[in-house]
Parts: sequence; structure tokens; C-alpha cells
Amino acid sequence: MSVTTTDLCAPLAVLGHDVQVPLVSGEKVAYAALDYAASSPALQRVWDDVAAYAPYYGSVHRGAGYLSQLSTDLFEQSRRTVEEFLDLREGDQVVFTRATTDSLNLLAGVLPAGTRVFAFETEHHASLLPWRREGLTVTYLRAPRSHAEAVAALDAALADAVEGPKLFCVTGASNVTGELWPVAELTEVAHRHGARVVLDAAQLAPHHRVSVRELGVDWVAFSGHKLYAPFGAGVLAGRSDWLDAAEPYLAGGGASRTVAREVDGSVAVEWQSGPARHEAGSPNVIGAYSIASACRALGEAGFEVLEAREQRLIARLKAGLAEIPEVKVLSLFGEDAARVGVLSFVVQGWNSSHFAAALSAEYGIGVRDGLFCAHPLVRTLLGGEDAAPSECGAPEASLPGERSLNAIRVSFGAG
Ligand code: PLP
Repeated sequence: MSVTTTDLCAPLAVLGHDVQVPLVSGEKVAYAALDYAASSPALQRVWDDVAAYAPYYGSVHRGAGYLSQLSTDLFEQSRRTVEEFLDLREGDQVVFTRATTDSLNLLAGVLPAGTRVFAFETEHHASLLPWRREGLTVTYLRAPRSHAEAVAALDAALADAVEGPKLFCVTGASNVTGELWPVAELTEVAHRHGARVVLDAAQLAPHHRVSVRELGVDWVAFSGHKLYAPFGAGVLAGRSDWLDAAEPYLAGGGASRTVAREVDGSVAVEWQSGPARHEAGSPNVIGAYSIASACRALGEAGFEVLEAREQRLIARLKAGLAEIPEVKVLSLFGEDAARVGVLSFVVQGWNSSHFAAALSAEYGIGVRDGLFCAHPLVRTLLGGEDAAPSECGAPEASLPGERSLNAIRVSFGAG
């Protein structure tokens, strides 16, 4: 995309921001956002759908009027669209959340007391940390170096685990390396040991078809803003039983079926079952509707087509980087491991943050640098434990020539 500095500054100026937009070759900037793994730009088609709906906007599940009924219908139809997009099983449910982090925290809150949670230390912090709470025990498994090692490590850990409810959490595609994880095999192992599985599909769902039925996972979580929809909404989908048995994620209107004053002055509540139980308050209907619109767009474009295009781009990127001797691409599973359109690397002799800043300032190329909210994984990939990061951001600078303490990430979609 090639736009002028003025184009880029216009919306920022309206909001009163004084932002330095890169100036390359005079007035023109070539601006490329290669940071889709963080947030992918919403599709024009999604904005158009939202704009078409805007005049009919009304309260959801709360009004007898025409606009309320229409909004309620669109909200519930959006749920159906997500069910189809994820190829859910009979009885599974879709809960709209704020994003993947919210979805996984919701799930952590409904796990039966005493649940043992297993996760590889390579997870994104959103799927690594929500399980550290009272009533749950977490086992973090060391970073595997192959799919076979991952499957064997999970098998061994679950074989040793005592009786009781168990959950295994796995990310389908790494937000650092882009590498795919063997979700179906890991799920098969987990189920053999009586453990349930939640799939963090934040990076997988925008690039690959996710069929809950075929993968066999019990729950799946993803974020709208990484799937070509705007910020603010996400999904937790899957088995209903634990969701229906637990206290609501948020207490409030919509989650309660009846609320009655007792003779002793207390209040008795009967909670809803189904998605409403965990969606208290006025729902984010625009968010849900946007996700459904993006799901439809991806479904119509066809994942085979999108994947083929993305694999061509990845091959080109890898070939280009391979020509630069100072560049080292980060990988857990080896150079030829299958990956989505996400790739991280370090440049020998360069501090990654400086390199990323130079890419933006001199070439208008926006990438991400840092530890990508996956500190243990990036440290493993860089071969050290001594980076001193700020949360999700860049660690203290390494000097030119020293081993890198953080990395540079390039990520894109095929849209
Ligand atoms: N899981 C993975 C693999 C991610 O890449 C991210 C975000 O980068 C998340 C979870 C958290 O997503 P969100 O910030 O939308 O909650």
C-alpha cells in the first residue's frame, strides 16, 4: 500500500494526536503493516456490514421494539455463523467475550475445583497464566523440539497425573514462530488420559480452517481483532457442561433468570444456562456481528486459497531472509516446520528494537519487536534466560555484536 503522510496523519490529527509518521523519499511513504499477528486490519467488507447495520441498532435481549428484535436476531445469528465457522458439535455453545485472553480466563473460572492444568511453557501468556489461581494446579511442560517430543511429553505428564479433572491447553499456531502444533494428536493423547483440551486459536483461526469436530478439542478460543474484525470481541466455544455448572463469569442482568428477595432479606438468584450465563450486561452486538461478518468472508474466500497464497509469501520471505547471512530465523520445530504467516528472526550485530525502529523510520515497514507476550518461549529460542523484559515489550537493549535478547517479528495475512 502506498499512501501519503497526510493520508496517514488525517485521522490522527482529528483525534488531536501529534504522531511522527515515517517520511520516506520526501512526501511519500510506503507503509506496510507486517504485524497482523498483533491485530489484523478489519476487512472493508466487515466495516460495510457494520455500517449497513448501524441505522437498525437497538438493545439486545431487552426490548419488544422492532430495532431490539432485529439486533437480538443479528446477535444470535452471529452466534450461529461462528458455530458453523468452527464446525461445532451438537450441544457445544459459543460465548462472546472480549478476546482470547478473556475467553481463557473465563474458562479458568469454570474449571471444577481441583482441576490439574497442563500447558507447554511455550504458550502465549494468555494461555500460560490464567490457570494460576486458587483451586487449580498447573504443570508447565518444557519446550519440546519436535511434534513427536511434544506428544511424548504430554503423554508422560498425564500418565503420572493423579485422578480428577484435567485440562490441557495448547496454542494451534505460535504467535512467535508461526509454527503449527499437532493439535489433533495432542488431543487424542489428552483424551486417552481423561483430560480435556482447550485450543488457543488466536493465531490459527485467521489462517486455517478450525474444525472442532475434526480436531476433537473440547473448547476453542479466538479474538476478532486478529481475524479481520475490529477490536473488542472474541469467542470461547465448546462443551457446555462445565460452563453451565459454574458460577457466571460476571454477575448481572442477562446472566440471571430470576432474582427474588428472600424473607430473611437476602436475594436468591437462579442463573441462566447456555451462553447468556457468562454474557452478563449489554452484549457487544457490533463485535459479535463483526466477527460473524469476518467468518463469512473467510469462509467465502476459502482457506485453501488463502493458505496457498500465504505459503507463497512465507516461502518468499524465508528465501529473502536466507540470503542475508546475519539473519537467524527462530524455530522450535526446525527450519522446514509448517507455519502460518508469522515469522520471527534476529539480526546478528543488531539490537532488535533498533532494527525494528529503523525498518519503520527508514522504510515505513511496521513490524513487532520484543518478546511477544511469550517470554519463556522467546528466551528458549534465543538460547538464554537472562533477558530482562518489560511486560510484553522489549527487554533491555543488547549491544551490537552481543547475543540478541529479543527478536523481530514479521506477520501477515493472505487477505
Ligand atoms: N494467544 C495467542 C497465540 C496470541 O497470539 C494472542 C495475542 O497475541 C493471544 C492469545 C491473546 O489475544 P488477545 O490479546 O486478543 O486477548
